[in-house]
Amino acid sequence: MNDLSNIEYSGGCLDTPILKQRGQREVFCGLTSIIWLHRKMQDAFFLVVGSRTCAHLLQSAAGVMIFAEPRFGTAILEEKDLAGMADAHEELDREVEKLLSRRPDIKQLFLVGSCPSEVIKLDLSRAAERLSKIYAPAVRVLNYSGSGIETTFTQGEDTCLASMVPILQKTDHRQLLLVGALPDVVEDQFLAIFSQLGIQNVKTLPSRNKSETPSIGTNTSFALVQPFLGDTAEALEGCGSKRIDAPFPFGEEGTTGWLKAIADDFGIDKAKFEEVISAPRARAKKALQQASIKLSGKSVFFFPDSQLEVPLARFLINECGMRAIEVGSPYVHKALLRADLALIPPGPTISEGQDVELQLDRCRKAKPDITVCGLGLANPLEGEGLSTKWAIELVFTPVHGYEQAGDLASLFTRPLKRREALKL
Ligand code: SF4
Repeated sequence: MNDLSNIEYSGGCLDTPILKQRGQREVFCGLTSIIWLHRKMQDAFFLVVGSRTCAHLLQSAAGVMIFAEPRFGTAILEEKDLAGMADAHEELDREVEKLLSRRPDIKQLFLVGSCPSEVIKLDLSRAAERLSKIYAPAVRVLNYSGSGIETTFTQGEDTCLASMVPILQKTDHRQLLLVGALPDVVEDQFLAIFSQLGIQNVKTLPSRNKSETPSIGTNTSFALVQPFLGDTAEALEGCGSKRIDAPFPFGEEGTTGWLKAIADDFGIDKAKFEEVISAPRARAKKALQQASIKLSGKSVFFFPDSQLEVPLARFLINECGMRAIEVGSPYVHKALLRADLALIPPGPTISEGQDVELQLDRCRKAKPDITVCGLGLANPLEGEGLSTKWAIELVFTPVHGYEQAGDLASLFTRPLKRREALKL
């Protein structure tokens, strides 16, 4: 990408017909996103209203992290709740009271719905409203669904952020809103670039603390940092804010396209833009040259998992010289992925949803050098001799922006190196 002025994204895979499959799928539920959301929102607590299975999922997704005071937990629905023999609302109120009296550091409480709470139709929005009245203004109580019936693992972040939009105050100030939970170190890198560009009024959703909660309005332009935030984007647009259309900031090309779209929206002139980005952009290019040597000429197959698949395929093809065979995603949100799809040269199959057996057959037949998939599929495929990359790692690791471009490519070289070592 050389001349970045006034880009109109068209062509590429934008008009490629999407293979839509609706069969058995192998994806974690939205509760998983609590793992990165609780790290980002430092005064929030996520109370899952669910079963022991939900508690186990959270614990195993959190790995061996030991917290003196954890900021997520599960209010377990027992048999009697599920059979309708107890008033689950009363029990929930008691749990919340215990929690908040013990933990004055909690300023935002999210009641997170699960499969069991959904099956017994426990109305968590009513609970959140009731508890908000009791604990306002010290604690804000909201609810959203992380249930496996409704959400895949990254959609948990979308439902969480979308639940916050209705409570945001209104403002007429011209401002930029970054939407999506970035690791603090990456967010700080972007904020530094915006400051150098002269874009001063920059807010984030989610904010690190309740006191920094952004306001929104018709003079707000927002840029998504993740492609799985469709409901949040729609809710913000519903409040009159404007979404900046751009590729997602992965790799040098994606980051430059994303920053350029934002700079154009704020009327930053081309010379200033080039001056600010030239050094970090050159660093990213250099890191990629080195990191992509092993990837160049190799093939990749994506199973649907994180919804990052389309921008990652764009990165691996255009910036690392790989060939994508199939790019599978749980949902292909064409409006949000417009720029990334347009930047992918025609060739790969773009698929949405999953019929896992059929997709496994296609993958085995194609024998890709790297298969990006969920944890459930990785082990069996490794056993069959394929090199796999866990999609979930790409959500837990800082991968956005110029400074992480080389690391992002390195994440994909590791499975190749591991297989080479096994062959020796
Ligand atoms: Fe399992 Fe549903 Fe609980 Fe997720 S929300 S852990 S899918 S029971």
